[in-house]
Amino acid sequence: MPQIASFDDVKATRKERQVPTGTAWRTNFIDPEENNPVSAQAFLVEGTAGRVIKTHFHDYDQYQVIVSGGGVLGKHELQVNAVHFSRKYTPYGPIVFGEQQLGFLTLRAHKDPGAQYLEDPEKRSKLMTLENRKPWQATELPKFHPTTPDAALHTFTDLKAEDGLASFSLSVASNARALAPDPAHSNGQYLIIVRGSLHYEGREYKALSVAFVKPQEGPFELVAGSEGLDVLVLHFPREVVAKAAAAPQVAKGAPGTRTWQCMLCAFVYDEATGMPHDGVAPGTPWEDVPESWFCPDCSASKSDFVMALVE
Ligand SMILES: [Zn+2]
Repeated sequence: MPQIASFDDVKATRKERQVPTGTAWRTNFIDPEENNPVSAQAFLVEGTAGRVIKTHFHDYDQYQVIVSGGGVLGKHELQVNAVHFSRKYTPYGPIVFGEQQLGFLTLRAHKDPGAQYLEDPEKRSKLMTLENRKPWQATELPKFHPTTPDAALHTFTDLKAEDGLASFSLSVASNARALAPDPAHSNGQYLIIVRGSLHYEGREYKALSVAFVKPQEGPFELVAGSEGLDVLVLHFPREVVAKAAAAPQVAKGAPGTRTWQCMLCAFVYDEATGMPHDGVAPGTPWEDVPESWFCPDCSASKSDFVMALVE
């Protein structure tokens, strides 16, 4: 049976605490099962304007969905309904909560021991010494089509991979039905009701509601309420055994054509395209990028980058 909870079901668990940069709240939607680490974990994180969550990583793959307000992750603006996915051991941040405060869901298919901050030298060296680490992250906005006569499915273009990673946004018209994509080839599927409501097992689940569907549970039947339904469908990738990396050779491109990679989060600086948003013109050799420049995804400094290697 899929696990499902609406905000109304769980709001009594909302816990407040003071942090150095403001007030933080956490509301648990889906708790991991006792003594079963391979179980879903979903909670809502909220905070006052100016709250900062420092750059960190986790031991497991994770989705985050912005549900209210706004802010910045690294150098990326966060807006409502944006979906951020980070593979295990991929640092991201800092997350700075904006003027309108910020609320986001954290979604995992596996219980995680908690954030591991890069400012801790032990955690940083853990990252640098892990073998076969495949850091990767991306943020993408969904597309909803509320005027469709029945149902409309949009497939995310960045948040997908051959290992089962896939994300969709699906709109269902008022009182219509649609099947969500089959989670069979994933490591578990989240359904996030972000607008309207869902009828399920004799109840109505209004936005914001969260459901977790296991891979073997089949496509979830979405029955929309009178105002229709917008839902995010988020598939976790399966565990794949990493292949041994081929012996790399150093890319010997001319200055202005080389690429440089963040050793921490794998972000790539391409000299050919530069970083126009940061005032770094296309064709700028790495040596001429200002020392004050830092990684857009994890805020690492220039000294954390190495020239990218190619096979
Ligand atoms: Zn980085």
